[in-house]
Amino acid sequence: MSTIRKCAVKNCVYDESVTYHRIPKDFATRNDWLNLLCLPPTTSNRVCSKHFNPLDFVVKDDGHIWLKKNAYPFPVIITSEPFENEVEVEYTPLKYID
Ligand SMILES: [Zn+2]
Repeated sequence: MSTIRKCAVKNCVYDESVTYHRIPKDFATRNDWLNLLCLPPTTSNRVCSKHFNPLDFVVKDDGHIWLKKNAYPFPVIITSEPFENEVEVEYTPLKYID
C-alpha cells in the first residue's frame, strides 16, 4: 500500500525525512492551524513536521511519531505575494490632552 504524502502548505518542499500530521478535527484548533499555515478551510491534507517545533513531537513505543495534543505550527509567511498591494500606513501623531 502506498500513500501519497504531500504537505498541504504552499511552497513546502518535499522531504523524505519528515513525518506527516493530520490537521485536527476540533473546530477551534483546526481554525488556528489553518490561519497559521495560510490554508483554505477546506484543506484535508496533512502537514509535515517541518512546521512544528521538534519539542512538540513524541515518539511512541512502536516508533510512530506523534504530535503533542497542544502543538501549534509555526506561522507560514507567503513571500511570493506581490508587494504592490501593500497599504501605506498613515502615521498619526500622538495627541496630548491639555
Ligand atoms: Zn510542509
